[in-house]
Amino acid sequence: MTVATLIPVAYLIAAITFILGLKGLSSPTTAVQGNRIAAAGMLIAVIATFFSQDVNGGLPVILAGILVGGAAGFYGARVVKMTAMPQMVALFNGAGGGAAALVAILEFARELATGRPPDLGVSVTTLLALIIGAVSFSGSAVAFGKLQGLITPKAFRYAGQQLVTGGIAAATVVLSLVLVAAAITGTITVDPILLIAAITILALVFGVALVMPIGGADMPVVISLLNAYTGLAVAMAGFTLANQLLVVAGTLVGASGTILTRLMSKAMNRSLANVLFGAFGAATAAGAAGPAAGDDGRSIRSIGPEDAAILLSYAQNVIVVPGYGLAVAQAQHSVRELADLLESKGINVKYAIHPVAGRMPGHMNVLLAEANVPYDKLFDMDQINPEFQRADVALVIGANDVTNPAARSNPGSPIYGMPILDVDKAQNIIVIKRSMKPGFAGIDNDLYLDPKTAMLFGDAKDAVGKVVQELKKAA
Ligand code: NAP
Repeated sequence: MTVATLIPVAYLIAAITFILGLKGLSSPTTAVQGNRIAAAGMLIAVIATFFSQDVNGGLPVILAGILVGGAAGFYGARVVKMTAMPQMVALFNGAGGGAAALVAILEFARELATGRPPDLGVSVTTLLALIIGAVSFSGSAVAFGKLQGLITPKAFRYAGQQLVTGGIAAATVVLSLVLVAAAITGTITVDPILLIAAITILALVFGVALVMPIGGADMPVVISLLNAYTGLAVAMAGFTLANQLLVVAGTLVGASGTILTRLMSKAMNRSLANVLFGAFGAATAAGAAGPAAGDDGRSIRSIGPEDAAILLSYAQNVIVVPGYGLAVAQAQHSVRELADLLESKGINVKYAIHPVAGRMPGHMNVLLAEANVPYDKLFDMDQINPEFQRADVALVIGANDVTNPAARSNPGSPIYGMPILDVDKAQNIIVIKRSMKPGFAGIDNDLYLDPKTAMLFGDAKDAVGKVVQELKKAA
């Protein structure tokens, strides 16, 4: 048995670990282990590749690349804040798409160096890797810029935009067909280097044109979609290089990215087309003061930490509803402390997790896990919704849209039909947020005008900390 025959075996083992890893990631209890299994598989794959003949004399460059990329990735992942995770994913994703595009360009260069027109099969898959990879690279770069505030997160729109974007896509397809025709006929009439350069530039511009009109708030869904594109590009690069592992890994990424994109759109009750071409995330009304009173004369009721502590300490069942504001404030540890205190008084505490609470799927689960909140206290929307009517207090911390009853009752609301947590059914509701400003969807929340609702204004970490102090004082 030679080393060369062992490489496919190593790739097969790696492919199996990727599938097991994904399976592990489907539950919080097995997620860390799943991640480790997949990482170990990746290590096996990388080591096996070193023994491949294709590597030739390129080992020093590859090692240098791994060192620089690995160090940057390790450092970035260590220091990134949970709220900045979407842009981190955008960066990693863009790097994957860019790598697939570079592989495609190098493969074209290798083919062209032979002096013969490119082979048809190779041309098609290489072209797809180039185009999809380049779109994913530039699209992810724009998504990163919007989320990081480097470019305006607002939707960038102009008259005739769809025509221009469509024109860029059409030009890319036409030039690609010219290249494919050359591969079929065996004759090249246009300089192939120019052709490939033009296709690359057009695909890069298309990625920018695709993401610029989408509002910053919708970026997580876009990133998930681009992630699926990257998977596809990598799978295509796998076909070009005749590397089965790349095909498997790319397909897994493509499929999981597509499923995630669907789940996110579904949880927001919006079609993907609406996310890509609609206006929901386009203009969040940042800065709007929101109503202090409803049209029907209802007004908001504000309480202090002391009253909140009293309300909580008389409760039997408390449901904590975490949202984006909890993540921004990094209030997870204070929340855990509050729950511990309540539980020490014999009060039942559960957490209600909406599928799109926060800005990333699983955002709340990861945050609460970081503060060692036991997994069995976290409940999905469908599990917890029937329990709200039995809850003495629903404690909403930095969550807004995912609690908005308008999603159930107001057909005119932009979020009508979005599944929500039935917080309004609880006996009492305490909402912790800093102001009456709206959340992600930029709309007012009727829950705040509910006579059962008391607003505790303040930064989530600060406000929860003060309630904890009050509870300790009373103990
Ligand atoms: P949200 O509707 O955006 O509301 C968050 C609230 O937190 C805001 O109203 C804000 O009010 C408050 N807040 C911000 N900073 C705070 C702080 N330091 N302390 C206390 N409160 C603070 O968030 P959500 O209820 O979690 O809903 C998530 C939204 O994101 C949904 O509309 C969902 O569709 C969307 N989304 C989610 C995902 C995902 O995968 N999770 C992806 C894309 C979009 P103040 O400014 O008054 O404090």
